[in-house]
Amino acid sequence: NENFMSKRIIAVLPGDGIGEEVTAEAVRVIEKLNAATDAGFECVHVPVGGTAYDLHGTPLPEDTLSTARDANAILLGAVGGPKWESAPRELRPERALLGLRSELSLFSNLRPAILYPELADASTLKPEVVSGLDIMIVRELTGGIYFGGPRGIETVDGQRRGFNTMEYTESEIKRIAHSAFRAAMQRDKRLCSVDKANVLEVSELWREVVTKISSEYPQVELSHMYVDNACMQLVRAPKQFDVILTTNMFGDILSDAASMLTGSIGMLPSASLNADGKGMYEPVHGSAPDIAGQGIANPLATILSVAMMLRYTFTENAMADKIEAAVQRVLANGLRTADLAREGETPVTTSEMGQAVLDEL
Ligand code: ATP
Ligand code: MG
Repeated sequence: NENFMSKRIIAVLPGDGIGEEVTAEAVRVIEKLNAATDAGFECVHVPVGGTAYDLHGTPLPEDTLSTARDANAILLGAVGGPKWESAPRELRPERALLGLRSELSLFSNLRPAILYPELADASTLKPEVVSGLDIMIVRELTGGIYFGGPRGIETVDGQRRGFNTMEYTESEIKRIAHSAFRAAMQRDKRLCSVDKANVLEVSELWREVVTKISSEYPQVELSHMYVDNACMQLVRAPKQFDVILTTNMFGDILSDAASMLTGSIGMLPSASLNADGKGMYEPVHGSAPDIAGQGIANPLATILSVAMMLRYTFTENAMADKIEAAVQRVLANGLRTADLAREGETPVTTSEMGQAVLDEL
């Protein structure tokens, strides 16, 4: 392996609640790769979220941030929980996520929505509409209306007025477009850019810049769609999409809608990348305080996040394929954690599910 000599450090931030339980299984998968190949991944564990707040009085200690900054990739479990709800706003566990995103410029949020055939009955759509579904939403994460200014609530002539600003610079659009085209190159090479260019100037610029960038990726087929139509198409015929590229707000909405097509939140991984391909990888779900500490959480979203890490930070596509195939076989073998089990099925525990993936690997 030509990468043998290069250091490959993974900062592991388990966080709170089931974050610790699911991350432990994902780390076992990384260790298995180390044992079976000369992959040479090195995991460095550091606290984050409420756990870090309890230890160091802040959800994102300096040591955690610098470890994350120095690492090639970050694996994050989940943060938050009722225990810290009364903490001061700026010290809440969730603040650590915003801190990591902005400190590391993680502007590109990749959210796949994959329906495993074995879970077809968990989808909200008919099997023929969703079977084989495999789409990827690339959402801009550090700009747009969530960050633009001016913003606020003011009183004008005795009437209150709320306002926000949707803005994107050419360079912000360029870098997220490159990220999406690169993702498309790793997949089916079809990219649909979603905007509202018939109404919004910011979308007009978005469309123009994305079109210009597309000339650098001649193998990728680019199309454009208005966001209202994209919502409709997503629930009408989601399989028409490969990669969807969109803004912060549109991506927020579209990716939640897409996640429901796939059944359980316990299956969905995500990546947040910066310009160097460094990424933070985490399950879409949260710390699930209601089931924390019981050893019953589904670790597959986090294990699939490791597969994304291998694909997008380490370009170890073959290893990523192996993990995804192992997950698929485990499901095909009928293993179900509690979130996936149907009536009459006996669920397996978090570590039993993790072990089953290791065995398939
Ligand atoms: P957050 O604000 O961090 O998103 P939340 O409470 O809104 O937290 P989750 O923590 O994702 O959302 O939990 C939502 C529901 O899904 C809970 O009932 C939880 O038990 C369940 N859930 C979430 N993740 C998993 C998982 N990996 N395995 C099983 N059930 C899960
Ligand atoms: Mg939530």
